[in-house]
Order: sequence, then C-alpha cells, then structure tokens
Amino acid sequence: MKIAVLKETAPGETRCAAIPETVKKFSALGAEVTVETDAGMSAGISNADFEGAGASIAARAEALSGADAILCVNGPDAGELEGVKAGALLVGALDPLRRREAVDGYARAGLEALTMEWMPRITRAQSMDILSSQSNLAGYKAVVDAAAAYGRAFPMMMTAAGTVSPAKAFVMGVGVAGLQAIATAKRLGAQVSATDVRSATREQIQSLGAKPIFVENVAGIEGEGSGGYATEMSDEYRNAQAELVSSHIAKQDIVITTALIPGRPAPRLISDAQLATMRPGSVVVDLAAEAGGNVEGCVAGETIQRHGVSVIGASNLARSVPADASALFARNLYNFLSAFWDKEAGAPVLPEDDEIVKAIRLTRDGKIVNERLTAS
Ligand code: NAD
Repeated sequence: MKIAVLKETAPGETRCAAIPETVKKFSALGAEVTVETDAGMSAGISNADFEGAGASIAARAEALSGADAILCVNGPDAGELEGVKAGALLVGALDPLRRREAVDGYARAGLEALTMEWMPRITRAQSMDILSSQSNLAGYKAVVDAAAAYGRAFPMMMTAAGTVSPAKAFVMGVGVAGLQAIATAKRLGAQVSATDVRSATREQIQSLGAKPIFVENVAGIEGEGSGGYATEMSDEYRNAQAELVSSHIAKQDIVITTALIPGRPAPRLISDAQLATMRPGSVVVDLAAEAGGNVEGCVAGETIQRHGVSVIGASNLARSVPADASALFARNLYNFLSAFWDKEAGAPVLPEDDEIVKAIRLTRDGKIVNERLTAS
C-alpha cells in the first residue's frame, strides 16, 4: 500500500493531512508513505521531520505515481492529480455539495473518493470525525480572537489601582465548538453563560461552571436531539428565544455564536437591533458565518463594526491553529483507514454495506455512488 500526502493548494490553507506520528503508524501497518515536498511547512513540520518518521519526500507527480491512497485536507481538482492510478482512494474533506464538478472529475479519473465530513455521528466513528476535531479548535480560537479584539481584560483583577471587572461572555449553540468556547472563556476568567435548543446541553453547560440561559415557556428539543443535531424551531420558539436573548445580550461583553442546522442556513440568533443594545467595545464572534451567519450583517472572513460592536465573521478558524489542527485531522484519517485495515491485504478493505463506508464513499469504478449525490 502506497500512501501519498498532498501539499495543500487552497488559498489560506495551513494544515497537512499527515503528521510524523501518523506516518509512523501507517508504516507500522506495512504502508509506504510519500509526502509531497513542504506539505507540512505551514503546520511546523519540516520535510526532515517526515523523513525521520519513515516517509519519503517527493514532488507531487512522483508522490502520486503508483499511490493506492491519497490523503489531503481539502479536495484537489482531478486535474491536479494527473498520473494517479484508477482505483486509488482519495481521502479528505472533499466538500462534495459545493464541489460537485470536482467529484464528477474524481469519478472520471476512476478514483474512490471518501469525504470525511460525512462521517456519521456514531460512537464507532467518533475518533474519525474531522468536523468535531476541527470545531473543537475553532471554539477555542474564537474566544482567543475575541479576547484579542476586546479592549478590556477577561479576568477580574484586584489591583492597587483599582478593580478590573470580569468580562461577561455568552455562548450560543453548545455543540463541540460551543463547549470548548465555554471552557476557554472560563479559563480566561470570564463570567460565562450559554444557551442551546437541545435540553441535554443544560447539564453540560453547568458541568463547565457556566450558567444555562434557556427558553422556559416553549419546549425546545428533548435530550440530545436526533444524532446530536438540531432542527429548525417553530415561530413560537424563535420569538421566545429572541425575547430571552434581548434581555440577556445587552449585559454581555463577548458573544460567541456557533448554532448550525444540518442542510439549512444557520439560524439567525442576533438581530441588528439587539447588537445596538450592547455596550460599545463588545465583541461578537460568529462561527456560523460561512453557513449564512447567526448574527445579522456578519460577513464571513471579515470583522465589521456595528453600533460600536466588533462582529467577527469567523472563517475556518482551525487553520489558525495549524499544528494542532493538522495533528487531530491526521489522526482522524489514520483512525478511519486503520479501522478498516486488512492485515493480509496490507490495505484497508471497505465493505459495501458498512454504515461508515456508505456515508462517506462518493465515487467508485467511474461512478458517483453516494445517495446524497445521486438523489440530487
Ligand atoms: P452543530 O455544529 O450541528 O451545531 C452547533 C450547536 O448549535 C448544536 O448544539 C445545536 O443544538 C445548536 N443550535 C442549533 N440551532 C440553534 C438555535 N436556534 N439556538 C441555539 N442553539 C442552536 O453541532 P455539533 O457541535 O457538531 O454537535 C452537536 C452534538 O452532537 C454534540 O452533543 C456532540 O457531542 C454530538 N456529536 C457526536 C458525534 C459522534 O458521536 N460521533 C460526533 C459529533 C458530534
């Protein structure tokens, strides 16, 4: 089994789909790993580090030649994979709904494309889940970025020159990113509150020492919700939530929003009128910016000023922690491929009827095979 690790070409991408640790582990399974020259540089991994772990370093054409599996963070266009052999696995965050043409290209090239974002949320797949591993870092970085943009300190400080009051931080959406945002804001010394539509998160918020702020008079989503996902809420719930947020938000210095609904635009949680009630100098970080935003007026990848409040449209925050983001991403890929490793074949064997394989396999034998793509 020959594995090629690509150097990412997407603008702004800093991560790498392998780290020396995963190269060693693949080698221990009997695979030969070739890393494209400088693939790890922006994540702080030198070519020598990879060589020290047992990988060869080569230009792309040489790395691809004879490769049985290609590991990437972002999916390349099929044109960037010239010389690849039919049947090779392409594993990464391939973004199939937005990059349909690229997926057609993978099929034409005879690649077996496997998209890691579609990993099902089941216990067995937890260690393979790139959305969780990258969201966790994004939740952390959102708070660090908010602290950097905030003109005051987070913790309470009692000094000879007087007292600095603690920042008040409010986290909206308590999934993987939200939980890490709560934990990070607490560590920095803020007074933290948080909300979600799923009732199971109430206890999680409390266990992190933060205050739950929940709509009480209209029922939200019971327990975890289906597979941990939220759905769109009724008008009645939305109105009750807007009222609750209005009374809470004016007292907050920092707001981190992370609310997402699968397959839908992000729910609008903060209106411009609500922003106007916040104290000038407050900071809002919208982690849902790329999905349409939880905050009215927010622009993905930009920081705008509204009523004296900085609204940061966070985009791909995991990229700003490239060493850790690469390590977690690379382990997700290793955990996936090694879970299906067949010792005798010396390669992963991906059964047709496996829940994970069915969810993430996009193309095979020249055809698109994933139901989410064939149905559309
Ligand atoms: P997500 O990114 O889909 O959404 C973020 C959060 O926003 C969720 O908690 C959601 O309930 C919340 N939200 C949606 N609409 C909202 C609204 N109108 N108001 C307030 N909040 C709203 O979620 P996620 O971070 O991927 O994870 C959610 C859950 O799934 C977590 O409990 C997590 O532990 C679980 N999970 C399990 C696995 C697994 O078992 N393999 C993998 C990933 C996540």
